[in-house]
Amino acid sequence: MKTYLITGCAGFIGSNFVYYMLDKYQDIRLVNLDKLTYAGNLENLKGVEEDPRHIFVRGDICDQELVAKLIADYDPDFIINFAAESHVDRSIANPMIFVDTNVRGTVNLLQCCKEAWYDAGQKTWKKGKKYLQVSTDEVYGALGPEGYFTETTPINPHSPYSASKASADHYVKAFHDTYGMPMNITRCSNNYGARQSPEKLVPLMINNVRNHKSLPVYGDGMQIRDWLYVEDHCKAIDMVASNGKVGEVYNIGGHNEKPNIFIVKTIIEQVGKRLNDPEINEGLIKHVEDRLGHDRRYGIDPSKIKEDLGWYPETPFEVGIVKTID
Ligand code: NAD
Repeated sequence: MKTYLITGCAGFIGSNFVYYMLDKYQDIRLVNLDKLTYAGNLENLKGVEEDPRHIFVRGDICDQELVAKLIADYDPDFIINFAAESHVDRSIANPMIFVDTNVRGTVNLLQCCKEAWYDAGQKTWKKGKKYLQVSTDEVYGALGPEGYFTETTPINPHSPYSASKASADHYVKAFHDTYGMPMNITRCSNNYGARQSPEKLVPLMINNVRNHKSLPVYGDGMQIRDWLYVEDHCKAIDMVASNGKVGEVYNIGGHNEKPNIFIVKTIIEQVGKRLNDPEINEGLIKHVEDRLGHDRRYGIDPSKIKEDLGWYPETPFEVGIVKTID
């Protein structure tokens, strides 16, 4: 039986990962460490409340004593760090909390892994152990109209959020380069799907449309993101944890580059159709002042994960959004 210490899994992507893994593997144990910030929600885990394979622990990834105890008690094969402050607008308003959780929290996890898994005398690591850092394509900065992010694109973050994620990635790489720590980093594009926090673009627009509220769109709405259906992302993380080459970074995108305004119009169309409501129309769109330092385009080159693992996420946005609305 494999044991996973997973962090931040009362949040959006992590809770989807819990369902994905429990559905896929009978013989598994997931120890879920989450601080339950505004973004964590135990409602997301209602469906696994009674499942003995999932153990929920409320706590902070910055808490050295707690993390060390969880590693000692459960002896995880994998540690997968989803926990983060993840909202760009909040990072612009209050960058310090992003340093605490995203940077200090990650370094604490790395340090605890090293304490438990590394034999400094022999310079060896316990067999079968791996640390996986869930990161973001935002660490690469922005693209022009052409080209894609590859795993060797220089790191060039623009927001306090992406700067903190980039810093965490550097620490993960440093633990690999300095101590030989077995690790992977995954950098994904914008996720959407069930259980996403209501302040993010897709759920915000779905809720507003349902309630005939105006739909705030930053600037001209032509900021392009590569939209990744969350269940595809969970599948990719599982594949990288089990079969990714140690020490490698993997970019994970959705093959779905779309401007924000397209996302909003698709949601209007799909929700309008379901509710058969003529008041749901593009008149609800309201362009508002653009976000500071707003990156124009992200796009992901999928070749590496395809080559190493033989699979790439491929749910089209139009299919994923219908599942999300339902
Ligand atoms: P989320 O904000 O929905 O959830 C974050 C979770 O982390 C919450 O449950 C929260 O309670 C928990 N948490 C926060 N601080 C903590 C701490 N100090 N200790 C323990 N738990 C803590 O985030 P998400 O959208 O699910 O993102 C998960 C990961 O994926 C993050 O690392 C994020 O940077 C990355 N990511 C997300 C997206 C996206 O589109 N959502 C895109 C790229 C990368």
